Amino acid sequence: MQTQPKRLEYDVVIVGSGAGGGMAASVLVEAGANVLMLEAGGWWDNTMDSTMLKMPYDSPRRGAGTADRPFGEFDACIGGWQIPDEPYTVAAGQKFDWWRARMLGGRTNHWGRISLRFGPDDFQRKSIDGLGDNWPITYKDLAPYYDKVDRLVGIFGSKENLPNHPDSIFQPAPRPRCHELYIKQAADRLGIWCIPARLSIITKPLNNRAPCHYCAQCNRGCMTNSNFTSGNVLIFPAAKTGRLSIITNAMAREVTVDAKGNATGVSYIDKATGKDMHVKGRIVVLAASACESARIMLNSKSSRFPNGIGNQGGVIGKYLTDSTGTDVGGFIPKLTERVRHNCDGVGGGHIYMPWWLDNKKLDFPRGYHIEVWGGLGQPGYGFMGGIENYPNFSGYGAGLKEDYRRFWGSTIGFSGRGEMVPNADSYCELDPTRKDKWGIPVLKFHWKWSDYEFKQVKHMQETFRKLIAEMGGEVWSAMPGKEKGYGISNGGQIIHEVGTVRMGNDPKTSAVDAHQAAWGCKNLFVADGGPMVSQADKNPTWTIMAMAWRTADYITQQRKAGAL
Ligand SMILES: Cc1cc2nc3c(=O)[nH]c(=O)nc-3n(C[C@H](O)[C@H](O)[C@H](O)COP(=O)(O)OP(=O)(O)OC[C@H]3O[C@@H](n4cnc5c(N)ncnc54)[C@H](O)[C@@H]3O)c2cc1C
Ligand code: SF4
Repeated sequence: MQTQPKRLEYDVVIVGSGAGGGMAASVLVEAGANVLMLEAGGWWDNTMDSTMLKMPYDSPRRGAGTADRPFGEFDACIGGWQIPDEPYTVAAGQKFDWWRARMLGGRTNHWGRISLRFGPDDFQRKSIDGLGDNWPITYKDLAPYYDKVDRLVGIFGSKENLPNHPDSIFQPAPRPRCHELYIKQAADRLGIWCIPARLSIITKPLNNRAPCHYCAQCNRGCMTNSNFTSGNVLIFPAAKTGRLSIITNAMAREVTVDAKGNATGVSYIDKATGKDMHVKGRIVVLAASACESARIMLNSKSSRFPNGIGNQGGVIGKYLTDSTGTDVGGFIPKLTERVRHNCDGVGGGHIYMPWWLDNKKLDFPRGYHIEVWGGLGQPGYGFMGGIENYPNFSGYGAGLKEDYRRFWGSTIGFSGRGEMVPNADSYCELDPTRKDKWGIPVLKFHWKWSDYEFKQVKHMQETFRKLIAEMGGEVWSAMPGKEKGYGISNGGQIIHEVGTVRMGNDPKTSAVDAHQAAWGCKNLFVADGGPMVSQADKNPTWTIMAMAWRTADYITQQRKAGAL
């Protein structure tokens, strides 16, 4: 399905409909621009397509994942670590996993909705510890756009006034559940900040959307649009103006340019027919996700841009980062003793732990935050695999049923998400030989964690184990040693990949300027995580959206001034 293109030439062509593309479209359409959006995946509307109301026993496949829904057949996100017809390669002996969505709304159909602002220090890290680079913009430049995103999209949380963890304009946060209160008590005793989560789920009505009714099924898509997805919260309202056209199953190949090097539009493959198509735009915005936008730019070669558009400095693909990650789970005997009660809530933790320590006193330079899991939510298909490992396990029949009731909800866990320092060995480039189904060169990834990240993840493991011990629990796994990288995730596995098209003040060391316009091509912009200079100890999407709004505002000003 698609809305019919109405024009021969558009004010703006946007590639990608995820967090960045949806936000850019919403702001540009609101400002009066006629916009065409190209999306490589198919149509998706949560109000129609969500499986939020299904019970686990409704699953004909007992919940098993499918090729395009690896997280289970009820999951809202179509995509995965591997996409048929669209391979990528990884340098020999290295590990990198690339998770891609292929649907209207992109990865916002699955994301955890943890919506954290970057803090003032996160834009100026080099000035603090001499590593990586400073951004060409500061927190002050982005703060008004974070405010706008908060007001339009909605976020719950609590005002805390913590250093480098700026508060948003919050709706009330749901109360912590029993296991979360227990975790908080342990964190308080250990001096770890533990505060209400900050999720883009509304707890009060907002912009004609109903508040959350606490069914905890966010990853299946929300039929009441109470959580944020780019499709239902940004794109459909924008399409109602009549100024946004959307073509789905449109795989962008390259940005086309005129003799002066200005972008003239985008060529793409109509995946339904395999035909090469072209749309004209006075301005082009790439928001296909950090690595995919880099790929499109590297593939946009012309006599003016022989190494790819905006790539005069050879920067595109470089400075790729992902959050570090590791997890520890454990059994908490005390939680088997609680009175059974309604443990409903949002689809995600109600608490989290922002970075609470001073890196100057530690042997690694950047911080991390802690996400928590556990609770008595609706059991999913295949739940409690490994029940035989619980203490005094009964075995069969009535005893087994009783064990399920007793042990359900007695496991909790912690996941760390930390900041990586960009390094020269982690990047993507065009694979010199491999092409996708449509003959478009694919990406080849190179990846290396440095000692900074290994030491940080070791600290995560030790902290999570202390928390579980403090709760009187038993950790499920032995502490991974140095030879296992202390349990560090593969690059890309935390699905926070950013960088690759970084912003800066110098075309020799950056790919886009401080407004996210490509160097040498003033009417081409990048509005996803590509322009980020560094990662922060926060999840990136709220910042991607604030940056996309800022870029869209700049485009509007330039259009009004006749400069674009
Ligand atoms: C399981 C999971 C949990 C996550 N949890 C969080 C979280 O809690 N907090 C957080 O901040 N972030 C989280 N993220 C990350 C978050 O989803 C991404 O940061 C965010 O969606 C990135 O936005 P984007 O616009 O750059 O890309 P996407 O949302 O990926 O959108 C890109 C879109 O472009 C389309 N596209 C790609 N290539 C082309 C092409 N050549 N032509 C046309 N269209 C194309 C894609 O099909 C896709 O729809 C999570 C991600 C996943 C998968
Ligand atoms: S928990 Fe709330 S936001 Fe999530 S799917 Fe249910 S109603 Fe929607």
